Amino acid sequence: VRAPHRHGLALGIGDDCAIYRPRGAAEDLLFTTDMTIEGVHFRRETHPPDAVGWRTLARGLSDIAAMGGEPRFCLLSLALAPWADGRWVDRFYDGLLRLARRYGVALAGGDLAHAERVTCDIVVCGSVPRGRALRRDGARAGDHVYVSGRLGGSALGLETNAGPAWRKHLRPEPRIALGRFVREKLGATACMDLSDGFSLDLHRLCLASGVAAELTSPIPAFRGATLDQTLDGGEDYELLFTVRPRTGVPRSFQGLPLARIGAIRRGRAGRVTLDGRPLPARGYDHFRSAPSAL
Ligand SMILES: [Mg+2]
Repeated sequence: VRAPHRHGLALGIGDDCAIYRPRGAAEDLLFTTDMTIEGVHFRRETHPPDAVGWRTLARGLSDIAAMGGEPRFCLLSLALAPWADGRWVDRFYDGLLRLARRYGVALAGGDLAHAERVTCDIVVCGSVPRGRALRRDGARAGDHVYVSGRLGGSALGLETNAGPAWRKHLRPEPRIALGRFVREKLGATACMDLSDGFSLDLHRLCLASGVAAELTSPIPAFRGATLDQTLDGGEDYELLFTVRPRTGVPRSFQGLPLARIGAIRRGRAGRVTLDGRPLPARGYDHFRSAPSAL
């Protein structure tokens, strides 16, 4: 890890969080910011307000988990549309604060404004022992690639609006404890959270590390999810990580399955193959009918 510059940043744009290193401190501070926008990340007609609040914070907490950190506090800026009445706002905060309490996260401030669409901007600060944050750029040839949970549930839930997949979409559980385990006990070489779609996110991890990846089926799928939803559906908020080949990785962590899906290889940076065929990096745009290549 390079010495921080005068501004104190040990890591800037390009990972799940930025890392600020206070001089002489035992911990690095992690910062992440995420937007949740009506019509892009949720729909007024289908998403209960408490779920919108929950998901707004969960997006930020998932980025802290990706670095192996502990969340500390958050800041929330909220722009309200004319349709969002006091009852909607109360329930939004209920959902957000319920998740905040679960992880001991304080709501430390923010801003309130008005706009044509509800827009929520969350900043989360976390901490990690100095120099120990999990990053995207540490994967090396020979490492094994793992993923937690089952993918595609969030994209499936958006179609069904019912059942376990819809519940998974509405209230994703940030993998804070798993991130810490992966950092402390497995000594992972790289880690990120799956927010934009597995194929795109793994491509980004490989790009950051300057490596390629070879995957073998099956990629663990949420029950009922299509192959497209599994590979390209976003917002699963599971963790993707790499470990040195002799690392003993358990088959599950606190009931959450951990699956070995392939290995890191030398090769063109960012190239991912599945069963020997190139896997295109796609993110799923939920409110269009077809997946869109990014
Ligand atoms: Mg992320």
